[in-house]
Amino acid sequence: MNELQKKDLQYIWHPCSQMKDYEDFPPIVIERGKGPYLIDVEGNSYLDAVSSWWVNLFGHSNERINQALKRQLEKLEHVIFANFSHEPAIELAERIVQITPPGLNKVFFADNGSSAVEAALKLSFQYHQQTGNAKKTKFVAITDAYHGETLGSLSVGDIDLYSKIYKPLLLQTYKAKGPDCYRCPYGNERDTCSAECFEHMEKLAGKKHEEICGVIIEPLIQCAAGMKIYPPVYLKKLRKLCDKYDIHFIADEIAVGFGRTGKMFACEHAGVSPDIMCLSKGITAGYLPLSLVVVTDEIYDAFYCEYTELKAFLHSHSYTGNPLACAAACETLNIFEEENVLEKNKEKSKLISDIVRDAFDDHPYVGEFRQLGMVGALELVEDKETGKGFDWKKRVGYQIYKIAVKKGVLLRPLGNVIYFMPPYVVEEKDIRFMVKIACQSINEYFGL
Ligand SMILES: *Cc1c(COP(=O)(O)O)cnc(C)c1O
Repeated sequence: MNELQKKDLQYIWHPCSQMKDYEDFPPIVIERGKGPYLIDVEGNSYLDAVSSWWVNLFGHSNERINQALKRQLEKLEHVIFANFSHEPAIELAERIVQITPPGLNKVFFADNGSSAVEAALKLSFQYHQQTGNAKKTKFVAITDAYHGETLGSLSVGDIDLYSKIYKPLLLQTYKAKGPDCYRCPYGNERDTCSAECFEHMEKLAGKKHEEICGVIIEPLIQCAAGMKIYPPVYLKKLRKLCDKYDIHFIADEIAVGFGRTGKMFACEHAGVSPDIMCLSKGITAGYLPLSLVVVTDEIYDAFYCEYTELKAFLHSHSYTGNPLACAAACETLNIFEEENVLEKNKEKSKLISDIVRDAFDDHPYVGEFRQLGMVGALELVEDKETGKGFDWKKRVGYQIYKIAVKKGVLLRPLGNVIYFMPPYVVEEKDIRFMVKIACQSINEYFGL
């Protein structure tokens, strides 16, 4: 352990970690980044195959975003956002309304994903309170959902690892059994599936719709659940159901927005517009914390009246609408527009698919390779016939992660799922390197 690592462990409590693990696998102290690579203080480099927790889009220390930030820094770093405003926020809001699905016309600002989810839940609840549906007080999510880690967002999540101990503190919510395409209980193929599993949601809403404010969902990929991908038809059915029962469709595009799935927003695959959309992560290309809650006029109008009617949305965060973050977000949108990003990603996504399939063809422990756009995932299983996974106590993913880091690739598996979610600037050689190291590391772990 070097001096920095020792000091780190003396003072820092890292996120999502058992700190005792750091005794034999200390934190890697990064000094700089370039493109999809991170370089540590000892000069070792790591390909960032997880886009630094799914936020980075155009590489580390991207020249265009660096310049945009420097320009903004010379003008204004921050200002109160109540009754004050600034150009980067105005530009960003206008452009977001233009590019998000039709009907989403008003932009509320927050500063991280979880707080966007909190604001979305509060907005939906308050809307129903103010429009004569006071009985609508509950939210629905699907099994294995992940929407963040504050108490409200944990309440609509369904991953025990993060939420179990806090159950006594959480809101009472409903969970509908969601899609499970790899282990589809109906025996359907992804391409021809008609989302029969939607019956669970339908049944729940049929019984409880009078109590339900909204359904929150991660469109097309349940990322934290292990990159579980499901087909767009599920979202089409959800849109219809929500219309039928006056329930808000809340799309949490925090991880899948900004091109991850091959379209700017994942809802576009299904051709549906949600009532509320949460955005964060890639919005600043991974530079600064920022999140948006984009809503319909109908929702906005339910709060718009004389102050004394007390219907305003009195929610704020200190760093709401931070100008630096907004400037980074505007430049991110410029890059999308000017550099033909979505089109170029199609080729990269195909390359990832081809190279992974080549490397893992007939691998004895790969149950499934699934992919959508710039997200690819290998699910490791003990038994390919039955799809039986490994005992979590073996920490298979974590062991493979440790091997791969030593070889220069930052993978951060979710349980037994090894995934590739690289910055969009990866080139063919980077993709080959990423997949080669993943393959070597998996084989080394299994002694193959
Ligand atoms: C990361 C994530 C969040 C939470 O965002 P934070 O900025 O980490 O609070 C919420 N929903 C989804 C789908 C996410 O991937």
